[in-house]
Amino acid sequence: MALRGHHEVVLLLGAPGAGKGTQARMLAESLGVPHVASGDLLREHRARGTELGRAAQIYMDRGDLVPDDLVVAMIMERLEQPDALGGVLLDGFPRTLAQAEALDAKLREHGGQVRVAINLDVPKEALVRRLEGRRICRSCQATYHVDFNPSPAGESCGVCGGALYQRPDDRREVVANRVGVYLRDTVPVIEHYRHAGVLHRIDGDRDIEVIRSELAAAAGLKVSVAAA
Ligand code: AMP
Repeated sequence: MALRGHHEVVLLLGAPGAGKGTQARMLAESLGVPHVASGDLLREHRARGTELGRAAQIYMDRGDLVPDDLVVAMIMERLEQPDALGGVLLDGFPRTLAQAEALDAKLREHGGQVRVAINLDVPKEALVRRLEGRRICRSCQATYHVDFNPSPAGESCGVCGGALYQRPDDRREVVANRVGVYLRDTVPVIEHYRHAGVLHRIDGDRDIEVIRSELAAAAGLKVSVAAA
């Protein structure tokens, strides 16, 4: 299928635990484009027991990155889906320079480009605490934190009543590795987009609503979502 569009490609970059997921869902909705999260897609593959899911498992459980060729193929396939032709919000991809180069080349092929890459920046010390306390709803993927943002429904989801769980890779033993991998492999991606002149940094260590409205402005939305 020939790709058209892809002028509306927005990247949300940032360390694990920076709060990308929560913000990305809201921003994609406001932009009217699909939210494509590489981590979510990989977890879906694992749940379905696909070949990719089985191959990815060992890396994910250790907090390492899944090899570039597998992740790039998965994202390229997603970008070919009809709903992505008008643009996407990419969350968690690209995470290495090789992935960024593959994405840029794919978009260029079809006359598109990354419109803005937003770095949601959170101090390293805050990341580990955020990840360890994170709890996620099995049904609707709403995200909570045991201390900073507990569910009003206790052990259940305040949105849909689903059961909350801790991602296996949010356990203390794995978290430090994930942050280290981020610093080594993904920080260069931020520099890559800074160089391309499309990088926008947002301080992610503030109130969720403040971040939300700054993200919307960075992504070029004119409406003030803070007032919504
Ligand atoms: P996330 O939900 O974004 O924190 O991703 C969870 C795990 O999936 C990561 O720790 C990696 O093992 C894997 N993963 C997600 N996105 C990528 C990517 N772009 N490249 C390589 N591995 C990824």
